[in-house]
Amino acid sequence: MNRIKIGVSGSDERFYELGYKSTVEMPTYIKGLDLDCFEYSFGKGVRLSYDTRKSIKEAFEKENIEISVHAPYFINFANPDNEKIENTNRYLMDSVIAAKDLGASRVVFHPGSFLKSDAETAFNLTYQNLSKFVELYGDYLIENDIYICPETMGKSSQVGTVEEVAKFSTLHRNILPCIDFGHINARFQGYIKSEIEYQQIVDTLSNYLDDFKVKNMHVHFSKIEYGAKGEIRHLTFSDNVFGPDFEPFAKVIVDNSLTPYIVSESAGTQGQDAVVMKKVYTEYYNK
Ligand SMILES: [Zn+2]
Repeated sequence: MNRIKIGVSGSDERFYELGYKSTVEMPTYIKGLDLDCFEYSFGKGVRLSYDTRKSIKEAFEKENIEISVHAPYFINFANPDNEKIENTNRYLMDSVIAAKDLGASRVVFHPGSFLKSDAETAFNLTYQNLSKFVELYGDYLIENDIYICPETMGKSSQVGTVEEVAKFSTLHRNILPCIDFGHINARFQGYIKSEIEYQQIVDTLSNYLDDFKVKNMHVHFSKIEYGAKGEIRHLTFSDNVFGPDFEPFAKVIVDNSLTPYIVSESAGTQGQDAVVMKKVYTEYYNK
């Protein structure tokens, strides 16, 4: 049966402590931790030569470790300026092409920020601009088997509640939701307390999306410090103030037969926290 995948985002502290230096060594590190996947961040821009992409792809295929991509942080589908939207389209397509070269099938992106608009205007702009994006490039996504994944965001000035991300994911066959539980928890001041809230999030997705999209959602998981406006900074699993806790989510994954792709975004301890998630999940799975 289809099992979930758990892995890390970016190079963590342990990766360097073990003497590793470059991304072509990442699949060996991931495999050594008995994990399944890695997310490559193009947060500051898509800059990677074709030859490097090719060697990374080969290294991951050799170890049978999956790779996903995070698109640049400056993507903003909520920008009212059409010229800026052309840039946003290009940043996302550059990421999609990079994903194809790397052998990745998922591209995560931040939908947008409000700028001077209110939440409703920003959502509507994002929705319209993203539908135009898939009108232009949807066939390319299908042909290359690549999913773009709008992410739930941690600050009250950003587009990306669970419901908004679910609505974006209805726009095209190749859009999957990226649920960042740390962001949801931070944005709504510690909303996630138990499996009840995790189940509510899954149910919200199910209200809009078919089984395939809900089961195969992309997940970012980390504990995150928050204030009045939401997210402040990513923490590690040693935090016991802000949360959210992974354990109740593991139960919801098993109860709903979900098969998500979970990426740890802990601050510096991605590998070891991903190992904890895999252990907790496996325990519930085998119960
Ligand atoms: Zn993100």
